Amino acid sequence: MSFINSIPTSEKSSIKVAVRIRPLNKKESSTANIITTSNEKIIITDSSNKSKNFTYDYVYDVNSTQDDIYNDIGKHVITNAFKGYNSCVFAYGITGSGKSYTMMGGSSFDKGLIPRICQSLFDLQNTHDGIDKHNCQITYQIELSYMEIYSEQVKDLLNPSNDKSSLDVRQHPETGPYVDGLKQILVEDYLSIKRIISKGDTRRHTASTDMNDCSSRSHAILTIYFTQIVQEADIAKPREIVSKINLVDLAG
Ligand code: ADP
Ligand code: MG
Repeated sequence: MSFINSIPTSEKSSIKVAVRIRPLNKKESSTANIITTSNEKIIITDSSNKSKNFTYDYVYDVNSTQDDIYNDIGKHVITNAFKGYNSCVFAYGITGSGKSYTMMGGSSFDKGLIPRICQSLFDLQNTHDGIDKHNCQITYQIELSYMEIYSEQVKDLLNPSNDKSSLDVRQHPETGPYVDGLKQILVEDYLSIKRIISKGDTRRHTASTDMNDCSSRSHAILTIYFTQIVQEADIAKPREIVSKINLVDLAG
């Protein structure tokens, strides 16, 4: 079971909590299934048949697909990025609960939230590009950074020449916390994002040593900087609306 937190703006609350239950694996299949779901509720029944209900914003049972998660959570993130809001999506749960599967996906036929959000941003910016209803010329710019937090050290996965053992996390008075010196790469299409993420993944600590053991201790944070450059007809200087999307595959 993994929990997904996303922080887009919404009608009621800016924090949404979703729970996804993964299918039992071979080892677990002989154990009693004590969890059932009903609408946005999880029902846990103990051996004495006592039940407890827990309600979340979204609950996904074992039959849920990557599409279901994207339709509820990913689309929210995209809509909010176009409105100029920042958002953050992360999954947490114990090792093996399905965090990476939900965030990154199983295979290219089974893409998770991160590749789907990246792809949709490009698809949508291509359809929105041009003159809007207020007669403004809008162009878009997408930049990426990708970092790993491992043993409390922050490493830039897109800049191997930055050999500083750990980058510093600082506080900007207007834009909040940031990682000093983290490389931001301008990307032109979804395929370049895919290439950049794969290259970054080979630099993770998980790449060189025991995969499962290390991946459970290293956080990966992909940040998309989505800029809308709006040129109004009677104003010389364009204005920029920047939204930051943090997509996190948490350790654990
Ligand atoms: P975590 O990142 O939380 O340690 P993983 O995402 O690596 O866990 O998932 C552990 C295993 O379970 C992987 O083999 C993954 O493919 C599988 N898995 C996780 N969630 C699902 C799901 N919803 N449907 C099918 N297989 C899943
Ligand atoms: Mg993982």
